[in-house]
Amino acid sequence: MTRAAGRHFLQIPGPTNVPDRVLRAIDFPTMDHRGPDFGSLGKEVLTGMKRVFKTASHVVIYPASGTGAWEAALANTLSPGDQVLMYETGHFAALWQKMATRLGLQPEFIAGDWRSGADPQAIETRLRDDQAHRIKAVCVVHNETATGVVSRIAEVRRAIDAAKHPALFLVDTISSLGSIDYRHDEWGVDVTVGGSQKGLMLPPGLSFNAISTQALAASKTAKMPRSFWDWGEMIASNKDGYFPYTPATNLLYGLREALKMLLEEEGLENVFARHQRHAEATRRAVRAWGLEVLAKNPAEYSSSLTAVLMPAGHDADRVRKLILENFDMSLGTGLGKLAGKVFRIGHLGDFNDLTLMGTLSGCEMGLELAGAPIKREGVQAALQYLAECRRSPVRAAA
Ligand code: PLP
Repeated sequence: MTRAAGRHFLQIPGPTNVPDRVLRAIDFPTMDHRGPDFGSLGKEVLTGMKRVFKTASHVVIYPASGTGAWEAALANTLSPGDQVLMYETGHFAALWQKMATRLGLQPEFIAGDWRSGADPQAIETRLRDDQAHRIKAVCVVHNETATGVVSRIAEVRRAIDAAKHPALFLVDTISSLGSIDYRHDEWGVDVTVGGSQKGLMLPPGLSFNAISTQALAASKTAKMPRSFWDWGEMIASNKDGYFPYTPATNLLYGLREALKMLLEEEGLENVFARHQRHAEATRRAVRAWGLEVLAKNPAEYSSSLTAVLMPAGHDADRVRKLILENFDMSLGTGLGKLAGKVFRIGHLGDFNDLTLMGTLSGCEMGLELAGAPIKREGVQAALQYLAECRRSPVRAAA
């Protein structure tokens, strides 16, 4: 194997690049998770995560990938055979739906075009039809990582309320938490699902549920079998900062450091503005190449990733392969029915203007090498936008 000089560009939409200081925080002797010092670490990260979710209610942390927190959200709130209303935003929504079926629930999937977010009107109409209130939960993916499309969660909440329906509202924020504005309490979400490996700038291995009072009440009567995922024991131990089983201690050291960076040093609102700026610069590059952004509606553009549609007859995976071989950069592949049709540029996590320009340069060179019919103007368009943002910071927040 030949050595690749310089740092690998990990520009998939998560896992993202882990900052050196977070890696250093993790690289510390593991402590006794039942000893006297652990409780203060536990309390600190649980309090910090409430600020990230924007909730005054409970947050639990699992030593698991995001899929685990998906299962926890369903298993704690529902009973076998319950109907759930899910929305087909893309590959990850489809995986959550598959999980619901496997767990013995009855998911109903509102069909989507994989280029748009969940339609609040369609959800309202379906819930109004459900006079008997058989639907027990509405599940939506906030940021569909397969498509780069954001669903309007506050509007979905209003749709549920307008239908006067008691269903719980479950939202996946795995690729938006810490990158795109999200408000668990204000938006009336009952369970929010999160993961460590994207906006939180940590390695994979932690996942989260933020839990409303209504969701907690539902968990007392919900009959899905659960043990590892059970909120009851977790919340009881968390009161003093401890866990009912062995937590991922070193990842919690990393989480403490990442929370310091996001909440104290940069500030969440600045983090969101930075992601917006990089997403807009990326979309300008895509258009200047003469290519199309997969997301259809500007109000639903994702700030954490951009899916780029390749022209017919040009394989997106061939472009990704050439970019990896020539420039040592990983980009996201097309998932599910988008395989070969799109590549995804991750611009989330520990990411700045120059990381973006390196990323877009790699894309432009790779597209050219692949013989894609592009104009060599994308990098220039992004540079120009980033420079304008520096001259007039109001633009950056626009
Ligand atoms: N939901 C979304 C939106 C995701 O992007 C992912 C993973 O990328 C998952 C769920 C599954 O999470 P994990 O792969 O961490 O289990």
